[in-house]
Amino acid sequence: MRRVRRCTALGGATMLALVCSGAGLPPHLLPGGARSPGTPVTADANPPGTGDSALLASVGFLGAPRHGQARAVAEARAAYAERLEKAEARRVAAAKRWGLRRVPLRAPAPPEKKPKLTTEPGHISGAGLPPVIVSVPTDKKVVFLTIDDGSEKDPRMLEMLRELDVPYSSFLADYVARDDYGYFRKAHRYGSAIQNHSVNHREMPKLTYAQQRTEICRQQDTLEKEIGERPEMFRPPYGAYDRDTLRAAASCGVRVVPLWAEEAFPDRIAYGRADRKFHPGDIILTHFRGKEEWDGDMIGMLRRVLNTVTEQGFAIARLEDYV
Ligand SMILES: [Zn+2]
Repeated sequence: MRRVRRCTALGGATMLALVCSGAGLPPHLLPGGARSPGTPVTADANPPGTGDSALLASVGFLGAPRHGQARAVAEARAAYAERLEKAEARRVAAAKRWGLRRVPLRAPAPPEKKPKLTTEPGHISGAGLPPVIVSVPTDKKVVFLTIDDGSEKDPRMLEMLRELDVPYSSFLADYVARDDYGYFRKAHRYGSAIQNHSVNHREMPKLTYAQQRTEICRQQDTLEKEIGERPEMFRPPYGAYDRDTLRAAASCGVRVVPLWAEEAFPDRIAYGRADRKFHPGDIILTHFRGKEEWDGDMIGMLRRVLNTVTEQGFAIARLEDYV
């Protein structure tokens, strides 16, 4: 579900310049267009299934423009603008319906080249080991939402994040997710990436290498079977790991070990830094938890996260687009 908008993707024809300039569209509907942080109930660009490629595909245009195509291009552009407006109207309505103070900001287009990841200082690194990160190197005002474990399976949460078109990654532990992988298949269909959080949620450094390998690699196999994609990220339970964890994870296809910079709860956000603010590229951790485990529910927790992220001028981007 990657969305890449790139004006040069289909060549440098004159028409592309026309399309990319977005002539005739209001500024807030231009791809990557003007956006003021925290603007209440206004729209932003880049709804699903739109973009220059979609526009060009709908015109059937390849190569240099010809005379008779001008009208088709104009019509396609009008249809494109209409789709953008409708998609944004839906997000505005969804923000209201879910009780948000502001419409979440749209993330900018993902980087053409993923940034080079380096292990966070103070963490274990070495040749052949996946980097351990708490944030992603970027100067864009984006943060990433990751949701762990999987005990609470609130169908409203899936709808909320889909309607608002907010990307997130689910790190699943089999012992709580296994009673209903159907829920997470639905989350995946709705756009969530599915990543590995072990079979039994054990504290990895207390296990032997072989046990760690079973905890990690068996969950790789389970998720590949249940979801249809093999995860590339593993998050150790409690953030606890040792060199064996990284070796074991690498041995069954894990490329990156993301920890987190902030943790979100229904009643607060725990910041990893003294300034109590999000920083570009930060990874936010939260959990699939319900009222029995939390003094609140996932909807309230997400409301808090989205309101706070937006108020600080950030958009939630898709971790897999950067990592
Ligand atoms: Zn966990």
